[in-house]
Amino acid sequence: MSHSSEIQPKDIAKPVDKLGEVYSLMVLSAPYDKEGMEPDLKEPKDSWKTKFCASLDGFIALDTLVRPSTSEEEDEFVQKFINGLAKLFADSNNNFLQPLQLTMDYCAKCNTCSEACHVFEATNRHELYRPIFRSEVFRKIYKKYFTPGGKLLGKFVGADIDINWESIARLGELAYRCNLCRRCAQTCPLGLDNGTLTHEIRKIFSQEMGIAPTALHTKGTELQLKTGSSTGMNKLAFLDTIEFLEEEIEEKTGRKIKIPIDKKGADFLLTHNAGEYLAWPENPAAFAILFEEAGLNWTLSSSMIGYDNVNYGIWYDDTMARKVALQQFEAAKELGIQRIVIGECGHAHKAGIVSSDRMTYGEDKVRVESCLPLLWELVETKRLTFNPEKNNFPVTLHDPCNIVRHMGIVQPQRNILKAICPQFREMTPHGVDNYCCGGGSGFAVMQSLNFPDFRNKISTRMKFQQILNAFDEELVTNTDIVKYVCAPCSNCKGAIRDMLEYYQATDRFNIHYGGLVELMVNALTTLEQPYLTFTDE
Ligand code: SF4
Ligand code: SF4
Repeated sequence: MSHSSEIQPKDIAKPVDKLGEVYSLMVLSAPYDKEGMEPDLKEPKDSWKTKFCASLDGFIALDTLVRPSTSEEEDEFVQKFINGLAKLFADSNNNFLQPLQLTMDYCAKCNTCSEACHVFEATNRHELYRPIFRSEVFRKIYKKYFTPGGKLLGKFVGADIDINWESIARLGELAYRCNLCRRCAQTCPLGLDNGTLTHEIRKIFSQEMGIAPTALHTKGTELQLKTGSSTGMNKLAFLDTIEFLEEEIEEKTGRKIKIPIDKKGADFLLTHNAGEYLAWPENPAAFAILFEEAGLNWTLSSSMIGYDNVNYGIWYDDTMARKVALQQFEAAKELGIQRIVIGECGHAHKAGIVSSDRMTYGEDKVRVESCLPLLWELVETKRLTFNPEKNNFPVTLHDPCNIVRHMGIVQPQRNILKAICPQFREMTPHGVDNYCCGGGSGFAVMQSLNFPDFRNKISTRMKFQQILNAFDEELVTNTDIVKYVCAPCSNCKGAIRDMLEYYQATDRFNIHYGGLVELMVNALTTLEQPYLTFTDE
């Protein structure tokens, strides 16, 4: 079975090598409309097919979901899933139960949500990626096991589904074909949320079955709880990194800045996604330059997890998320600080400001806020002064879903860009209607097996098209000019970095990406040298 329109949710258990094949993709606009402008998709290796679940669409996200070798193992796998399903609908799942139950009970199958989904659109509307395909599979399983009608009447009440290793494993894989961007939820006339439902499927796999992508769990949350950071950076390495940043700042700007660490009595604790220190150190360095020039009373923390605001648990496992959140609050409390400011990381915004608030109680809590309103305040009140001519090249803005659609922080970042970038232009659509970068919900850091192909070719495709649209004039008239995609989010930057490399867009068309604060520092009137350097200039 592979032709998209023939696939139905009840087919999820069908004994075929691949339930669906991605044959055609949304055509990209010029100059990417020609043959040879992007790599072809490859078949998964035979050894992967026998070891993992490649039978959904050929991609493998769950590198810890291994095929059973005995029928007992298969039975145990199915039973654990059913046990987990029961727990989702228990009162103890109090943060998620209501939206989950509503989404299960009230879908009108109107398909308004389908058109909102970039994965569905990127695959020329492949049935497997229709938001309610996944929900309907889940709904059928639920009905079969947990409703009196489903147990007795089966297919007559929509519980027509076979349950075995293949069907549950495919559902697990399907839960990792969704970026949890919740653009679909925003459009649903009934307010139903297929993203939350997907999150809940991931939760069963992790909390009940011990199955989650290695990049998120073992090399993500577990490593963070063990060493202090999902990057594996311990306290000593963090302190070394800060010294390195100070040297870099001096070399680039001539300024001797002592970056404050563990400063008691600071007004706020600034936290970064620790990936920034390793992949984009110019970003935390830019924060330090701006905050020092503005004379703010701030600090970083060197405590366990106090220097890494990552919380991958929010994508797959509430228990893990809560453990990380508590440690992050603790780092602030140790310094007597009651205000944490989150740097440029989207999921850390949602994890720190929204999710952590719901997962903690009373004195555990610390006030957490976004860096973006603070940065805009520094611009608006002229505590910092800028020469926009220094940023006189085309700039567009990616809206990280977690910050913008999920939290409603829409204006500060674009107000700043309007003030400091004369050639700023919006993507279409933008703001709360933005499309996900394609790296959301952990995809940006999931690099195992052939999953990067899914991300680069499919889940980021709509964002790449938006970037091409934003620079459409320059892509024809001025391919050499620097073009800058501003993405104030660490994970989005990771996805955009890999996307630009996959499509060779930097080499071919001089398209670059980076954060917001780097553009701010680049435009500071007090800085003599450019802060941003572009390799192709
Ligand atoms: S949450 Fe985003 S990726 Fe997932 S189904 Fe909805 S629109 Fe598609
Ligand atoms: S828009 Fe809402 S009601 Fe309509 S199909 Fe999607 S989830 Fe169901």
